[in-house]
Amino acid sequence: MFINKQNITDKNILCLILLSLVRITASPKMPEVPKNKTIMTLNIQKIREDFPILQQKIYNRPLVYFDNAATTQRPQQVIDVLTQTYTQYYGNIHRAAHFLADKATAAYEETRDKVKNLINAESREQIIFTKGTTESINLAAFAFGEAFVKAGDEIIVSEMEHHSNIVPWQMMAGRKGAKILMLPIDNDGRLLIEKLEELITPKTKLIAVAHVSNVLGTINPIAQIAQIAHAKGLRIFVDGAQAAPHLQIDVQKLNVDFYALSAHKMYGPNGVGVLYGKKELLEQLPPYQGGGEMISEVKFSGTTYNELPYKFEAGTPNISGVIAFGAAIDYLQNIGFENLSAWEHELLEYATAQLLAIPGLQIYGTQAEKSGVISFNVEGVHFFDLGTMLDKFGIAVRTGHHCADPLMDHFGIQGTVRASFAFYNTKAEIDIFVEALRKVIAMF
Ligand code: PMP
Repeated sequence: MFINKQNITDKNILCLILLSLVRITASPKMPEVPKNKTIMTLNIQKIREDFPILQQKIYNRPLVYFDNAATTQRPQQVIDVLTQTYTQYYGNIHRAAHFLADKATAAYEETRDKVKNLINAESREQIIFTKGTTESINLAAFAFGEAFVKAGDEIIVSEMEHHSNIVPWQMMAGRKGAKILMLPIDNDGRLLIEKLEELITPKTKLIAVAHVSNVLGTINPIAQIAQIAHAKGLRIFVDGAQAAPHLQIDVQKLNVDFYALSAHKMYGPNGVGVLYGKKELLEQLPPYQGGGEMISEVKFSGTTYNELPYKFEAGTPNISGVIAFGAAIDYLQNIGFENLSAWEHELLEYATAQLLAIPGLQIYGTQAEKSGVISFNVEGVHFFDLGTMLDKFGIAVRTGHHCADPLMDHFGIQGTVRASFAFYNTKAEIDIFVEALRKVIAMF
């Protein structure tokens, strides 16, 4: 995210200094256990105790962490496994001839099975570990381009994509002499699926689309898009970075060709991601990077490549990160996706109603099928100023273009404030947020 420092006016600087000096008098409530139906299954207060970082105060105020779409926080259970790998069974994986390496290999490969089960992949060979969604997309775009794309071919990318799901396809298209076409959205943040039929030509090779938008929160009808794509003989790549933390993913039901996700948005370590692919497709793709592990045999006369998934996992991976991601998956499954998404939806509705009552506040992304993300602007106040001032209340939100420039262009804006929720958030935190927001707006 880039911050435009030119937008910090003298008046705002003065306000910031005042805010730092003066103790703001909004009541420092600790989040309370919400009284609602999901409390029957989710004890939010108990869940929060698992997250050490949430216990702290920022500027002497309870932390309200609403930047979960950027990255989530980790429970102690994940931190413990991360520590255990370094203190008890750390060694380089595969080709293991000793106890530590053996144990690390088994734990690493166990996470592969957990991911397979989490997203209901057909087989473990289809789970490729990467360093994140961005690397998963770069891998897929490069390898797919090498195998299937030639000059004049077309790739369709939606208007609501994160830059990660645009630029790698553009780079590949540039190398191959192919074209990128845009699938537009309407002003509610709905993908205009009906335009797909017009966009698809015999030259179209693939559609790249997010499962959930990181700005609008829109949940796209992936199964429907996959059906259209396959009926026309094309492949579908799904960026699941914002979906996998909130929804039960079933890649077989969705019938997608590729699916990408990041562990750090799923309460796991950063530097770990996954690329899922259909087996027959992955088998046809060339490797993305060369090095150790991805080979079967190396001679100066030529190299043969390893089998799936190792063909795509060159070099030493993030061993401890992958192992600890297994603990994050266990944690999520223990809570249950139905429970956490029901609670997050309740938070979304609660916050949306309160925000809409603020004069001059506009929300971007008003689809019914929406995850817990609210992007907004307030008339007459710059989004960066809002975010900076909210921080002084101990509230973490994100401001800027959210790595989605084409989407910003659609709405004719430079950026927004984005509040994004996780299952550990509470309605009391939303109250604190809305109260602080009203105060900040009043200052302008
Ligand atoms: N796609 C979407 C929709 C995202 O929200 C993000 C992260 N903001 C990414 C891709 C990139 O993920 P990562 O930085 O973990 O590679």
